[in-house]
Amino acid sequence: MDGGEPRRGQAYPREERRVSTIFGKIIRREIPADIVYEDDLCLAFRDVNPQAPTHVLIIPKKEIPRLADANAEDQALLGHLVLAANQVARQLGVENAYRLVVNNGAGAGQSVFHLHLHILAGRPFRWPPG
Ligand code: AMP
Repeated sequence: MDGGEPRRGQAYPREERRVSTIFGKIIRREIPADIVYEDDLCLAFRDVNPQAPTHVLIIPKKEIPRLADANAEDQALLGHLVLAANQVARQLGVENAYRLVVNNGAGAGQSVFHLHLHILAGRPFRWPPG
């Protein structure tokens, strides 16, 4: 079930967290991606449908469906993802102006249910976001 979200009102049981998405396939190199950064805990690759001149996704190798599914044991990992985003932004030369976005849940625009941070840069951004 690529990117699938459990039906409304259902919890994410532990087994469900192991269901892989298209991002799991990228981690396992089963499908290609334009990877710009990797370490033990995370991977960063360019979004296939970029919404800005620079649009990179940072994902944990651990398959956490949504930010809302992260818990206390993920605290260090979540910090790691944000610092990795900072490092990728520097690597791509956009460290002075980038937006970091997490869409949590279908109602907020999440379409792939493997936690990811969007790094967007290279154009003006409005506030509030649409
Ligand atoms: P979201 O809507 O926040 O879940 O973001 C999912 C993002 O993943 C979208 O911006 C998609 O364009 C992107 N995406 C989906 N499939 C791929 C893929 N195979 N490689 C790179 N980006 C992808």
